[in-house]
Amino acid sequence: MSDAAMKYESVIGLEVHAQLLTNSKIFCGCTVAFGGEPNTRVCPICLGMPGVLPVLNRRAVEYTIRMALAVDGHVAETSAFARKNYFYPDLPKGYQISQYDRAGEPISLAGGIEIEGEDGPRFVRLRRIHLEEEAGKSIHNEPGYDPDLSYIDFNRTGVPLMEIVSEPDIRSPREASAYLARLRQILQYIGVCDGNMDEGSLRCDANVSIRKPGDPLGELVEIKNMNSMRSMERALEFEIDRQSELLDDGGRVVRQTRLWDEEKRETFPMRSKEEAHDYRYFPDPDLVTVEIARSWVDEIGEDLPELPDVRMRRIVDEYGLPQDMARQLTEIRARADYFEACVSHAVGDAAGGASGGVAGDARTVSNWMLSELLRVQHENHMNQQTLGARIPPDHLAQLLGQIKDEKISGKIGKDVLDIMAETGKAPAQVIEEQGLVQISDTGELEGVVDGILAEHPDDVAEYRAGKTKLLGFFMGQVMRATQGKANPKMVNELLRKKLAGD
Ligand code: ADP
Ligand code: MG
Ligand code: ZN
Repeated sequence: MSDAAMKYESVIGLEVHAQLLTNSKIFCGCTVAFGGEPNTRVCPICLGMPGVLPVLNRRAVEYTIRMALAVDGHVAETSAFARKNYFYPDLPKGYQISQYDRAGEPISLAGGIEIEGEDGPRFVRLRRIHLEEEAGKSIHNEPGYDPDLSYIDFNRTGVPLMEIVSEPDIRSPREASAYLARLRQILQYIGVCDGNMDEGSLRCDANVSIRKPGDPLGELVEIKNMNSMRSMERALEFEIDRQSELLDDGGRVVRQTRLWDEEKRETFPMRSKEEAHDYRYFPDPDLVTVEIARSWVDEIGEDLPELPDVRMRRIVDEYGLPQDMARQLTEIRARADYFEACVSHAVGDAAGGASGGVAGDARTVSNWMLSELLRVQHENHMNQQTLGARIPPDHLAQLLGQIKDEKISGKIGKDVLDIMAETGKAPAQVIEEQGLVQISDTGELEGVVDGILAEHPDDVAEYRAGKTKLLGFFMGQVMRATQGKANPKMVNELLRKKLAGD
């Protein structure tokens, strides 16, 4: 942040667009699947042919209500659609079907979410959540296309979009990221959007103004075209600095829409208020008003899964884990599911024998998940789902059981995990095939230890003269001689005994 920016308070409100995970588009039966040959997933309705009638996708409304309930929004009793008129090549009808306060009540009003703010928790209020249709995709100068022509792909046209509009309650670029991350987490938990910013299924426009603390709200600038959390933070930082320097130089901020240029790391004007569109919103005459029955809302509410915050707190209470760990485990729903499944196997399998109790097992599972499993996942370019398919929770539980029972050392366990990730095999099979069973036979280990000591008479003498640090060296030699399979505790004891002068 520049010196100029330090004097001002930043005020940010986000408009987040989330593509809904329905099977078909919002007003027709075409598939919403990502990709496909251009213009193959279209019909007269989503192409905007004259005379066709849109029919609202019930599932899209349901998903929007689900989100509304997850953020304590107020679900409208009646909701309507409006036409937002503008011309753009990717919009075949010349208008977008959307919702707007004065011409079509949005599905949800108010509500909000809590985030980690700059100074403690911050509650970001929501203004509304509404439903609209996605536009098509223009293609300029992309590989495989003639650079002298522009192309349009209408496959995306009519995919249901949920727009979540916040109040200007966010106070820094970092808070904006925290807010977006939280929204994405909730969307993924309740299964209404995949949250994939790379594929554009989650996008965000940011509105930002600055003011001296205590002053009324300043003139806002809207920033578009940011396709990651990182670029949103950078764009906001740039824009806050730009506005601060402008005010410091005695200028004023002009209300306008600006685009983020990721390469140059700067925003540039797209259109100002004077050129702003008059969308001429009016109620869409082709669509009836939607009546949302209270009983339907209740039903959707009963189906809502446990939300991330609640689950985090339960995991702290139930498994005795620190909050930080529980937060990381619940970051992604699939990860939290994996954790709980693994713990239930670990507990179940250990029920007959000695067990550290639920808490002990949970801690071990959590430690492994947040270090080794994340490493394996990263190295193999897997997401949580693919990882869970390759190493199912019961396999991890079995592996941890093998370590606990001292069949293998923790160090060998990491190698076994790597092979499990590659092959999908159960740990017992890997251990057997690779001959990794830990050597815990005293006679066998004693032979190896004696051999090593005999090979290094000088070091033995030094150790006995007081250089006890050499114990590590001898441990290393024994481990090397046994390819890491020697039981480390037993080797340690044997070495100490023998070096003590026996
Ligand atoms: P709408 O587009 O719904 O008519 P606005 O343009 O006022 O209303 O609001 C759009 C977004 O801009 C909202 O997310 C809101 O929180 C945010 N916003 C409104 N006023 C300001 C402001 N002064 N500074 C920053 N953000 C603002
Ligand atoms: Mg707006
Ligand atoms: Zn269609």
